[in-house]
Amino acid sequence: MSQVARLMDPLEIGGLRLRNRIISTGHDTTLPTDGTVNEALVAYHRARAQGGVGLIVSQVVGIHDTARYTSHVLMGTDDGCIPGFAQLADAVKGEGAGIVAQLFHPGREIMETADGTLPVAYAPSAVPSERFHTVPRALSVAMIGDFVAGYAEAAARMQCAGLDGVEIVASHGYLPAQFLNAHVNRRTDGYGGDLNGRARFLMEVVGAVRAACGPGFVVGLRINGEEHDAAGIDGDEVLEVITRTAPQLDYVSVAAGTSATIAGAVHIAPPMYFEPGYTVPFSARVRAAVDIPVIVTGRINQPQAAEAVLARGEADACGMTRAMICDPEMPAKTARGALEDIRACIGCNQACIGHFHKGVPISCIQHPETGRELTYGAVTPAGTPRRVIVVGGGPAGMKAAGVAARRGHAVTLLEAEPQLGGQARLAQLLPGRAEFGGITTNLAREMEQAGVDVRLNTRASVEMLHDMAAEAVIVATGGTARAPEAEIGEDVHLVSAWDVLEGRANVGGSVLITDWRGDWTGLGLAEKLASEGRRVRLAVNATMAGEALQSYVRDTMLARAVRLGVEVMPYARLYGAEDDTVYLQHLASEEPLIVEGIDTLIVAHGATSDTGLLEALEGGELPVIGIGDCMAPRTAEEAVLEGLRAGWAV
Ligand code: SF4
Repeated sequence: MSQVARLMDPLEIGGLRLRNRIISTGHDTTLPTDGTVNEALVAYHRARAQGGVGLIVSQVVGIHDTARYTSHVLMGTDDGCIPGFAQLADAVKGEGAGIVAQLFHPGREIMETADGTLPVAYAPSAVPSERFHTVPRALSVAMIGDFVAGYAEAAARMQCAGLDGVEIVASHGYLPAQFLNAHVNRRTDGYGGDLNGRARFLMEVVGAVRAACGPGFVVGLRINGEEHDAAGIDGDEVLEVITRTAPQLDYVSVAAGTSATIAGAVHIAPPMYFEPGYTVPFSARVRAAVDIPVIVTGRINQPQAAEAVLARGEADACGMTRAMICDPEMPAKTARGALEDIRACIGCNQACIGHFHKGVPISCIQHPETGRELTYGAVTPAGTPRRVIVVGGGPAGMKAAGVAARRGHAVTLLEAEPQLGGQARLAQLLPGRAEFGGITTNLAREMEQAGVDVRLNTRASVEMLHDMAAEAVIVATGGTARAPEAEIGEDVHLVSAWDVLEGRANVGGSVLITDWRGDWTGLGLAEKLASEGRRVRLAVNATMAGEALQSYVRDTMLARAVRLGVEVMPYARLYGAEDDTVYLQHLASEEPLIVEGIDTLIVAHGATSDTGLLEALEGGELPVIGIGDCMAPRTAEEAVLEGLRAGWAV
């Protein structure tokens, strides 16, 4: 533990003593369904509290009826919210963690609503938000007064519910940040103009909350120094505002990014392309300016990275939110020195914020138990331990093997290749995606801990399974690269994306990638080949490149590819090819699109299921479960989830 001693040191915020400096910062879960805390949300946070986190900051709580920026937002606008928050506070505090609630108004950043219509958004001025294409209505002074009162009333309800405190959300381009931002706040009354005017709303909110709750209740502020937007907030001004508000605050939590633009939103949950802790330059400035604890967040996914931030004096505590979505027990493992056992978040964003954007409950591609705590919260021993053979060492098979072994089965995993990982091995070969290999490392470690017997270079057959006296078989044989359904002349240099990634194909200087899935393969390969000096055209069978990816991942990958000169052709179906000419068809108009001068045609058309063993076993004597891509080609998320379910089912 000495290598992470600072991180595990207790921290005082206001009158609250945290057992360590690991913070689960506010993040939407999409678990609530009617604006109130429910059993699923309590179970979700209880799991993190049991896992040893120091402080949990709840997801945003609306302070006014106009604060509903999604259909799943929690509301703090009437006393009916108190029993649910009380249950949440009891659960979290009962496990030794602190809990505060985020108080929130999105201003012009309205995403979606339950009935699909857009309400009127309110902001300091009628300045549009580019990302959601909202044109807000300027707030009247009377409404500003209502909002300030709303923050105070919501804070009082949180205090009544027994929470330790509240955190005022002035980050990510939401309402208080809109007031602070001179590009967005064009008011000419007392709430606009110079910094005194633009800071007035936030100062009134902080003052009202403090007055409503008294000195013993934690009041924090979440704020950004850098929005990564040319029309964003001014870092020097933010620092000045923090300095002015600090005497009434118990902590400051520093983040980055803005909801208002595509480039800025990426930093709300930065994907794997960003260095852990890249946001610390601003938190270090804040820490030098104030006497209250400073929390920093920004893809800090490992305790060693957090410890380094603390050791350099750049913050007093670290937001490690996705780290605990991926591994709720990360703090406890850190405390007992079991750093090798931590399932590190890989920054893929697929099931955490990716699920939020889809309007479905939070989870994790590596840990599908997240968001499903009511079903998979604790491993139950198998009624009858059996000899279980898992065939296939990709994410599906590895998860199934680890879970089945933890439940008490004697598990052997057979993998035909010399290494574990399946398609995850390919994903890690792309630029900036080396961390994707972590999914293999983590699942392999889980198998090792559970005592799974792993046999590589072993191609399974029905006879072999009988010889091994299998009592149950889980087939996770994955798939192979899918060939295109198009007329391709024999003189065309045609290769698969998988062959290029594994270095089995020569590639010419002018390439066309036909990307059928709109996932990481086409965009990542385009970036890789363009960075090697090739002319790259990317024809995507979707409305946009990376359509299947979480938007922050897609936008980051697209920016990297575009900067390298990759030419993207959306709405393009591969129709045929001859010589150096590729024939595409526009998906909507069905008109031809002809691309000439192509040396190499690379097809990234996903996988075809490898069903041989599964079909040979189905209908036989051995109980068999098929999971992952051998059932139907999809992503690592479905593979790991089906592995979990199979591990519970055998
Ligand atoms: Fe991390 Fe990906 Fe899991 Fe999200 S889904 S917590 S980014 S590993």
